Amino acid sequence: MILPGSTLGLLGGGQLGRMFSSAARTMGYDVIVLDPDAQSPAAHFATEHLCADFHDPAALESLARRCAVITTEFENPPADSLAWLAERVPVRPGAHAVSIAQDRIREKKFFADHQFPVGPFAKIATQEDLEAACKTIELPAILKVARFGYDGKGQARVTSAAEAIAQFQSWQSVPCVLEQLLPLQLEVSVVLARDVHGAVSEFPVAENQHVNGILDVSIAPARIAAVLSDEARRIARNIAIKLDYYGVLAVEFFVVHDANGQDQLLINEIAPRPHNSGHYTLDVCLTSQFEQQVRAVCGLPLGSTTQHRAAVMVNLLGDVWRDGALPADIILRHANTKLHLYGKGEARPGRKMGHFTVVANHVDAALETAQKIKHALVV
Ligand code: ATP
Ligand code: MG
Repeated sequence: MILPGSTLGLLGGGQLGRMFSSAARTMGYDVIVLDPDAQSPAAHFATEHLCADFHDPAALESLARRCAVITTEFENPPADSLAWLAERVPVRPGAHAVSIAQDRIREKKFFADHQFPVGPFAKIATQEDLEAACKTIELPAILKVARFGYDGKGQARVTSAAEAIAQFQSWQSVPCVLEQLLPLQLEVSVVLARDVHGAVSEFPVAENQHVNGILDVSIAPARIAAVLSDEARRIARNIAIKLDYYGVLAVEFFVVHDANGQDQLLINEIAPRPHNSGHYTLDVCLTSQFEQQVRAVCGLPLGSTTQHRAAVMVNLLGDVWRDGALPADIILRHANTKLHLYGKGEARPGRKMGHFTVVANHVDAALETAQKIKHALVV
């Protein structure tokens, strides 16, 4: 067990790293963050910020020498850096799991190989692959770059083969997947942790609403039948086991109707880290997803994921800033809201600047207040 007083290393210094650092330092750990961004949101809460490239030998050497364990807050730490660190210090989650989660082609192959449910897709390496795929995948479809996409970036809806090819070429023909555009009833996600002894604990299922490919609202617990949320948790747990995963893992699902009109789960993607849809755990669960990450990577027993109250989380994008500031009074005048800002400088449209959570006895009441606040923020 890595006990408080030890130093934890973190690759990546965005908002997830900020909330991880806050949880770890509250528990008495020191945190060293490696991130090339001088304005790293995590640096405010970390003990130390190594402002250097993820390949920087001196920074990696410093992490390996001083940290008891290394974890990550984003899916794209370079594989060679992870491998170098892993020879010297435990890295959780491991390089193998991260390499699958960071590449849509490997991820989809992993699901298919293990009979996890996914929608129709094709792997695209060449223009010929894409021409063939447009005949087998029903159009309209979504073309997604295999690596480095996020918040709906690096993906485009295409309605014809010609459109798909033009899009592929505009991305310099990097590897992609073509996915059938599914008629979604709903989207849900499961955040879980698996500890070093193999124990798994899931948080309650969240229901997610996206706008322009970016998460807008998460509702917890999800308004779905108990059998469906049990099934989502079971699939997520089995993915963590099959990946031999250590740490916090998120699994995003689509809910679609099957041929009989029954709700069916299809996996969209996984994230090898805490997830935006798990932020509600900060305010209404005994253990937050970030404390759970600390516990899981340190070899401590996992904390209780019991949810005390219903919650609706709303993302705050740069779009709602007015003259460089958030009109935070609109949120804070409600006594049952919790505001989380990430300390980012410039509020650009589409940039995740923070979130707020409305807490209530029932999801409907939380949603009503959340909608009121959302409306007031854009007026
Ligand atoms: P994030 O980083 O926010 O998870 P991302 O860039 O990795 O996003 P996806 O999760 O693949 O992208 O897609 C973003 C959203 O676009 C989904 O949550 C869903 O709303 C919509 N979407 C993606 N793929 C499909 C599909 N095959 N059919 C219908 N809608 C889709
Ligand atoms: Mg996604």
